[in-house]
Amino acid sequence: MPASAPKPDLGLYVHWPFCRKKCPYCDFNSHVSTTDDSDAFGTALCLEMSHMANMLPDCRALKSIFFGGGTPSLMPPSVIGKIITHAENTFGFAPMIEITAEANPTSVEANIMTEFYHAGVNRVSMGVQSLDDDILKFLGREHSVAEALSALETVRHSFENLSIDLIYATAGQTIKAWQNTLSQALVFDVPHLSLYQLTIEPGTVFYTRQRHGETLNLDDDRAANLYDLTQHMTAAAGLPAYEISNHAKPGAKCQHNMNYWRAADWVGIGPGAHGRFTINADNSANLQRVGTATRRSPAGWLQAVKTQGHGIDSHTHDAADAFAAEMIMMGLRLTDGVHIQQIENICGPRDGWLDHGAVKQAIEDGWLDGDQTADNGMVTALRATEAGRLRLNHIIAMILR
Ligand code: SF4
Repeated sequence: MPASAPKPDLGLYVHWPFCRKKCPYCDFNSHVSTTDDSDAFGTALCLEMSHMANMLPDCRALKSIFFGGGTPSLMPPSVIGKIITHAENTFGFAPMIEITAEANPTSVEANIMTEFYHAGVNRVSMGVQSLDDDILKFLGREHSVAEALSALETVRHSFENLSIDLIYATAGQTIKAWQNTLSQALVFDVPHLSLYQLTIEPGTVFYTRQRHGETLNLDDDRAANLYDLTQHMTAAAGLPAYEISNHAKPGAKCQHNMNYWRAADWVGIGPGAHGRFTINADNSANLQRVGTATRRSPAGWLQAVKTQGHGIDSHTHDAADAFAAEMIMMGLRLTDGVHIQQIENICGPRDGWLDHGAVKQAIEDGWLDGDQTADNGMVTALRATEAGRLRLNHIIAMILR
């Protein structure tokens, strides 16, 4: 990156690790807790934030904050407010900062969102997951369709910037059933949708059940049919995909997640949170991509922050070629794809990290689209095609050295 180029955007991820109940498909760092240590956790999150800010090569104004979990809508609004104020004092806020909180659609949590709004939250990501009571039961969710619809009605009054999360491709789900759920969600005319296919992750209750022979999600062909329907319906409603599972109206992409997919910088605080930022980004020979990961156990993390000011468990230091691989892996998830020339400017010549022959083959196979220079056919930008998005992990493994 030339010395005069702007610094990457900076985001802050805050992990709240508690839930009322563990969902059987969930592999997030979430824990059912009966104790109420909210104030102690809020204080520790601020302490760890200060520690992480001191690790950055330069402290920039935040472009986004994301409260994820776990269930951040269980946080007392006073704790949310304290963390937002501390973030502003520590980093400063960029104009139009995006501050998101994930929320579950129960009536209590929907009502508390007004207090979150007054504390500074300006975007809500609502974990509706389904608008079919049988599927909500199958997913082990605590809310019903009626509660979810009512919560959406309540929250949309305070938050224009509202996203709905849905899970599809559960076992036995028909095209008609998914069409019905997605249609009901589109009626709310929200600016953003996150639509995930159910995947069975190691360590979950669903993983154990699958190993005992139960079928819990659709096979690849049936899931692909639902994926095609998803692309068609969302595009027709004015929310085309901008990432494999994320859809937005113009100007409503999630800025925080864009930061991950563009491999920019972010600080991650709270139990099991990950952060990544770049040191010497204007010199590929000395560039380091630093990764931090904190202790996953909430009690262990809290104790560590109390005694040493942070709960960092491990550090990684990647060199320029590994950072180039991160940018390709994350950027190809976006419909806009990646700019190879820009990556070269930061990470050095492409020969060190990109397999030209494999890129050419993937373009010929119709999995990637490439922009090329007119004179020597050098690829300047790459995007995954619709067919390519369904086998992205394979393509990425092919084209990276
Ligand atoms: S509410 Fe969300 S984070 Fe908590 S267990 Fe369920 S899926 Fe996981």
